Amino acid sequence: MFEIAIIGSGPAGASAALFSAKAGKTTLLIDNDKSMTKRAWIENYYGIGEISGPDMVEMGKRQAERFGTKMIQEKATNIVKGEDGFIIETDNGKYEAKHVILATGALFDLAEHIGVKTKEATEPRIKTIVDVDIKGKTSIDGIWAAGTIAGVSVHAIITAGDGAKVAINVISELNGERYVDHDVLKAT
Ligand SMILES: Cc1cc2nc3c(=O)[nH]c(=O)nc-3n(C[C@H](O)[C@H](O)[C@H](O)COP(=O)(O)OP(=O)(O)OC[C@H]3O[C@@H](n4cnc5c(N)ncnc54)[C@H](O)[C@@H]3O)c2cc1C
Repeated sequence: MFEIAIIGSGPAGASAALFSAKAGKTTLLIDNDKSMTKRAWIENYYGIGEISGPDMVEMGKRQAERFGTKMIQEKATNIVKGEDGFIIETDNGKYEAKHVILATGALFDLAEHIGVKTKEATEPRIKTIVDVDIKGKTSIDGIWAAGTIAGVSVHAIITAGDGAKVAINVISELNGERYVDHDVLKAT
């Protein structure tokens, strides 16, 4: 049983995973390698001069892994209610998690399949998004959404920030108090 499972390891999902794992939550990141970010060349990410999409996605995954995220390359096909959370079914197995964050980018088939409330997108070239509240909660308690699938502006820095935001909200709910992740510069 993982505390937080994230579907999708683009900027939104990997960012959520690194916050979750760094907060000490058992974290599962499931991805089937169809990130739109892998087609991008990025020059508008604050603090980074320029980077290829594939390099950004790879670095994001490694950063999440460094803090203890378990990564699996599989397609999530269904999410059903379990005894104390959810069972995520993939093309290769089943995994249990207390909370699930959907970070599936422009792909909305899983969201539609599991029956979370969706709506028409407003961003260019995005068709359907998950209806979320300000915290990233979907219509199913315990299932959250972040990044492009949650309707934010389709830019890497914004989707990554949204993934972090939603993870912080899930962590805070698990902890029962607001969570911040601040490391302090060591004195030299
Ligand atoms: C050609 C192009 C150029 C771009 N250029 C820029 C740019 O210059 N600057 C900029 O800021 N942004 C750019 N973007 C936009 C940027 O890529 C997105 O805004 C953002 O990175 C999307 O992040 P995401 O995590 O929401 O989605 P994605 O990066 O698409 O990640 C979603 C992940 O979910 C996975 N997934 C989906 N469904 C499932 C499932 N059922 N099971 C398992 N895994 C699943 C996919 O495999 C994928 O890895 C560009 C996009 C494109 C297409």
